[in-house]
Amino acid sequence: MALCGYSLKRLCAVLSPLPLFRAVQIFEWIKKGAHDFSGMTDIPLGMRQELATRFSLFDSTVQTQRSDSTGTTKIGFKLRDGAIIESVLLIDQKGRSTACLSSQVGCPLGCTFCKTGSMGFVRNLKSAEIIEQFVQLHAGRESIDNVVFMGMGEAFLNSDALFESLDILCTDWHISPRRITVSTAGVAAGIAMLSAQKYDIRLAFSLTTADSQLRERLMPITKTNPLPLIKEALCNYQTHHKQRITLELVLLKNVNTRPDDIQALISFAHGLNVVVNIIPWNTVEGISLQKPTNSEIHSFAQALEHAGLNVTRRFGRGSSLSAACGQLGYRQ
Ligand code: SF4
Repeated sequence: MALCGYSLKRLCAVLSPLPLFRAVQIFEWIKKGAHDFSGMTDIPLGMRQELATRFSLFDSTVQTQRSDSTGTTKIGFKLRDGAIIESVLLIDQKGRSTACLSSQVGCPLGCTFCKTGSMGFVRNLKSAEIIEQFVQLHAGRESIDNVVFMGMGEAFLNSDALFESLDILCTDWHISPRRITVSTAGVAAGIAMLSAQKYDIRLAFSLTTADSQLRERLMPITKTNPLPLIKEALCNYQTHHKQRITLELVLLKNVNTRPDDIQALISFAHGLNVVVNIIPWNTVEGISLQKPTNSEIHSFAQALEHAGLNVTRRFGRGSSLSAACGQLGYRQ
């Protein structure tokens, strides 16, 4: 049994009848990046040896780890059942770190531009498997500044584990909720659950296009969770949380960059406090879409800005590692 993915409360229960302060010591060592019990010098040697016979700290093993010149690191983890997932640590130009976590092995939603979607769905991750990714990315660092649920899978389709993980990150790891973002392809029930949370967790909606017919083709979830339903859920979230919502727009050359897409987006954003994050599509082997040209990206962004929208552009950090948005999806 591995300990690092647990909440402190659960850790105390698992280690019982050891006193609470022992669980706190072990938790602090996990935070400091310990990979086994041997270096936990404030715990008596005999106790460390006994703990090592009963428990391990990690269930997953690092299968692959690669970094690039932008400071992005992509890690492939092998889980206990042999399933493989990927997580990414991004470092921005100011040195701030962001852990991008996966919530599922594969994804059932099949968005046509996404590598994970092309893998199909294998299973949901347990909350401990989600937290283990965070702990592994955290190891060797003072802290992690931001956490985003934008890795493999649709987090709201694994809501029990998602909300348990959010609770552990906020309560035990003291990550500010405002530094955590859950991204969704558009699961209205999940947005409603997030709205009902006490924490002010940030929300990103992967819109891609506000043209419903085109979106149904690119993101089949639109058929069961149509855009008017999502808009209602987003308005409800903002009534409760006052947080600006990120609308993520994966731009695909000659697909969702038409004037009609711009108009539909402006109208969808009306009444919401949003920032539009433009993400030029990152090439994925086997998917016959194309990256937009720079002038296509520029004109698209400019049209939105002229309409008064806040726009940011994300330029493929990690794309050389296939660690950028939509490129995660390890195959065994
Ligand atoms: S974009 Fe997100 S929701 Fe869509 S298939 Fe990929 S991982 Fe799943």
